[in-house]
Amino acid sequence: MYRKVKGTQDFFGIEAKKLRHLEGIIRAVIEKFGYEEIITPIFENTEVFVRSSGEESDIVSKEMYTFDDKGGRSLTLRPEGTAPVVRAFLENKLYARRALNKYYYFGPMFRYERPQAGRYREFNQFGIEAFGASSPYLDADVIISAAEIFKALGIENIKLKINTIGDFASRAAYSALLKEHFGKGISSLCDDCARRLDRNPLRILDCKIDRDNPLLKNAPKIEAVLSAEAKAYFQKVLKILDASGISYEVDPNLVRGLDYYTDTVFEFILESDDELGGLAVCAGGKYSDLVRSFNGPDIPGIGYAFGIERIIAIMDKQNLFPDLASRADIVLISLDEEAKEKALLLARALRGAGFYAELDYQNFNLKPQFRLSEQVDAKFLVIIGEEELKNKQLAVKNALTKEQELIPETKILEYFKENLK
Ligand code: AMP
Repeated sequence: MYRKVKGTQDFFGIEAKKLRHLEGIIRAVIEKFGYEEIITPIFENTEVFVRSSGEESDIVSKEMYTFDDKGGRSLTLRPEGTAPVVRAFLENKLYARRALNKYYYFGPMFRYERPQAGRYREFNQFGIEAFGASSPYLDADVIISAAEIFKALGIENIKLKINTIGDFASRAAYSALLKEHFGKGISSLCDDCARRLDRNPLRILDCKIDRDNPLLKNAPKIEAVLSAEAKAYFQKVLKILDASGISYEVDPNLVRGLDYYTDTVFEFILESDDELGGLAVCAGGKYSDLVRSFNGPDIPGIGYAFGIERIIAIMDKQNLFPDLASRADIVLISLDEEAKEKALLLARALRGAGFYAELDYQNFNLKPQFRLSEQVDAKFLVIIGEEELKNKQLAVKNALTKEQELIPETKILEYFKENLK
């Protein structure tokens, strides 16, 4: 027996429906905010991710599925959605379409992480990216859109954590400060962090290995070096959130693992006592320099990504999915060859009229055909036998009331239009 690759999942039956159901709700919300769908390839040239996330990021240094294709190109299964969207934005000169460009995406992402609850090697994300405005109003509106999605899904107990990592100048000053701080205790940090010290000391704050090291807990906060401009920008974002009735907690340790963030960063976390508590469901931030670092024009961006599997887990826990089982409208039961042919043609006509019609393809006995009707929870059964064929009539049975009546073949569509509204 072949087994699925570790950290991957099969979606079928109700689980597949949940994914699509949730996608529909999210789409409806985000399109009202003016976002358009963008669909990019599942793989990209490896350089796209190295450039955006940074050589030192966990994603690039440990988690990417990278391979050479038969032409010797280094390709990578996308570990996240922002870099491909930025690549597409530039390659297709989407910035020429209008001043502000808003895109959303759905799709699988791939990371070589240690699989555990809520963490997979292939997982689905929904995300947005907005390009073209450096404005606390946009930042706030992006966060509001995420909050609206949680509301539309019915998810409760979600906490917004927010922070600023400052503009370019603030970040540089903060890096210097952290370098000095961590330099003093470098021997107590992991090898990765030792390497990060020179290249990107902010990254150390994000380290999963050294998370509980006091050196991290006592690290200087960005507050100390934030420029007046960056401070004012952040205060404005918070003020708009206040006015919008969106509660948040400012978390000075929130820095986000990727190189490209500037100013506003945020995460939505589930608060609960069970195993899902503390799970990050949505995370994002502003990136002022990413587009330029791809050799593009100086256009700022902001975005976030939701983890779809985590949303499904939370919605299961909070009982938020409606009944997604689909019931057949009509099962056609046929008792001989001629009737089977009739059943197939009739099924086609019924489907053409908008009904979900099902039939058994190989049995002529009643028993297996009744069993099928039960499996698909049919609302009506149509029984076609010798008698019915001869008289051009169909025996129609209501599965609920068990009442049966004979309907002329020519009237059958009308009958169901009347009885299956
Ligand atoms: P990130 O791109 O790391 O900021 O992740 C954004 C969101 O994607 C997270 O908040 C999670 O909900 C989800 N996510 C990230 N990594 C995984 C994973 N390995 N498995 C499942 N969901 C994930």
